Amino acid sequence: MCRIQSDRTVPMLSLWDEVEAAQFTDILGHRVYTSRLLGREPSLVLHGGGNTSVKVRETDLWGDGRDVLYIKGSGRDLIHIDREGFTPLRLEATRRLAVLDALTDLDMANALAINTLNPKAPPPSVEAILHAILPHKYVDHTHADAFITVTNTEGGVDRVREIYRNDVVVIPYVMPGFRLAKVCAGLFSRDAGPETVGIALMNHGLFSFGDDARTSYERMIELVTRAEDYLKAHEAWDLPKPDRIAITVTNPIQLAHLRHTVSRAAGRPMILATHRGPSESAFVLRDDLATLSQQGPATPDHVIRTKRVPLLGSDVDAYREGYLDYFHENARGLALAKLDPAPRVILSRDFGVITCGETAGRADVAWDIYRRTIQIMERAERLGGYRALPARDIFEVEYWDLEQDKLRRQGEPPVFAGEVAVVTGAASGIGRAAVQSLRRRGAAVVALDIDPAIESGTSTDLIGILCDVTDEGRLQEAVARAIWAFGGIDILVLNAGIFPPTQAISDLSLETWRRAQRVNVEANLSLLRMTHRYLCLGPHGGRVVIIGSKNVPAPGRGAAAYSASKAALTQLARVAALEWAGDGIRVNVVHPNAVFDTGIWTEGILAERAASYGLTVEEYKRNNLFHTEVTSDNVAEVVAELCGPLFAKTTGAQIPVDGGNERVV
Ligand code: ZN
Repeated sequence: MCRIQSDRTVPMLSLWDEVEAAQFTDILGHRVYTSRLLGREPSLVLHGGGNTSVKVRETDLWGDGRDVLYIKGSGRDLIHIDREGFTPLRLEATRRLAVLDALTDLDMANALAINTLNPKAPPPSVEAILHAILPHKYVDHTHADAFITVTNTEGGVDRVREIYRNDVVVIPYVMPGFRLAKVCAGLFSRDAGPETVGIALMNHGLFSFGDDARTSYERMIELVTRAEDYLKAHEAWDLPKPDRIAITVTNPIQLAHLRHTVSRAAGRPMILATHRGPSESAFVLRDDLATLSQQGPATPDHVIRTKRVPLLGSDVDAYREGYLDYFHENARGLALAKLDPAPRVILSRDFGVITCGETAGRADVAWDIYRRTIQIMERAERLGGYRALPARDIFEVEYWDLEQDKLRRQGEPPVFAGEVAVVTGAASGIGRAAVQSLRRRGAAVVALDIDPAIESGTSTDLIGILCDVTDEGRLQEAVARAIWAFGGIDILVLNAGIFPPTQAISDLSLETWRRAQRVNVEANLSLLRMTHRYLCLGPHGGRVVIIGSKNVPAPGRGAAAYSASKAALTQLARVAALEWAGDGIRVNVVHPNAVFDTGIWTEGILAERAASYGLTVEEYKRNNLFHTEVTSDNVAEVVAELCGPLFAKTTGAQIPVDGGNERVV
């Protein structure tokens, strides 16, 4: 997914491009194009924030004309929006809702649903009524950082009036949805004049409008630029650039302990992503951190991603208590389903800025939002003092069903959500398949391999690390990287291995023997030893799966070094199962056989092994009771299931994945 991480150090410019625009030929097409232009700039909209609309005169099936409001679907990201991302609503019926004195969320959702002209369209944005009451054809709405910075400063309303004079109608903060639309309808009809090009919503964002897509979009850019210019004129735009990282803690185990307590508070495993660059370091070392950071989010809808305030330091229990107090004070006896009281942002002089999420993706969204919040707070401080909305306004949005619905639409997190797996030998064969099986089940994965290709696959929930597993120093670094990226290690899949060339014992050199021991046994011992203390802290208990071999129960001629090393590895796993049961860690072994889509099976080795059994290569591949081919995916799925709840009571097991083998059965 393409995301632009601009930090807005250059002036905001219109991104309108005639050639690009020409690809969009009709009214809704133009709406799609300029919506995407807004989406390209993260300082305007982020993660489903902001919305746009267009009003179109259409003809229905009977040839009668009707006015339709195409409004962005709720939670859709503007950067990727297409025509299907806009929900067509009956304009008049939507507009008339603003005439009502009151409207519950449920009634509003019902009224919008029955006035939707395409049953397959997404639920419309909660700002649909507000878009409908504005008389203009195109309407754009953003949560622009520069504007929010100004409104969230001491004397914000006066500053906004100074910047925009009569060009915008200023609306005090009102919770989004029906009430905001109602207030806007009143103030807009009272205050708007011929020169009005937009609306300024305090602590929330800007609206702009126009008769064509370009005008509406470029008015938004102009309005935001004026806020940026105001910050520059008041020396609140440029922030000092720290050049050194002053974070002190380098031992990742302390972070794993913190993740353990955060996960306990959340009631589920959580990913903790650490950000330790110079800017984050400077922020957490601010003298006024305790007051500045505890005021609240830049705009209320951030609360569902970041919670109202970050945890300062590492006392998760105190944060939990604070959250419960906040809940009881603001719920005032209403029957609300309490959300988990775990922090989503942690500010620590030891670690830097940590963002937490039920998945690596959600921790990343919290980071995208909080890194901008830091910038907003720092600029507002320079301007005159950062001021967030009172806690009750934030609470109202946090527990607003329509906001929670955005999270619910993402679905229940999968079985390994919030968990972290380390897989060795992950660039090919069983290792690569295991990475996929674990990610499909929601785990964040750290994938190690000696093949440099491993580094190319890195994404939000996957880190590929080039690593020779026999190099203890590199292994240690890889483990530390896993902890800084995700906060812990819950699952370890020991797959890296070598298959030395076929050699009779009478010819077997000590060097070949030792190399098999080094890669197939000793490297795994190192990794078990290094990760044990992290596995102990796994919120669901640690799990280790070791890739053994059919050669353990049924060795083959000419494979002494391999068979003996895998037997030693299996025995190591069994002892680990005994020693670590008390720590809640399960250790199991799978014994695959004849999996030929793996890194160790070159054509030469395949031919040699087939010959040693007196078989052709094809016969050798299906030489099992089911006469079936066993693939890496087959093994990987067993590996993943062994880590899941189905095998929660199983440790020390050895499970063949071999199509059935007479010598093993
Ligand atoms: Zn908004």
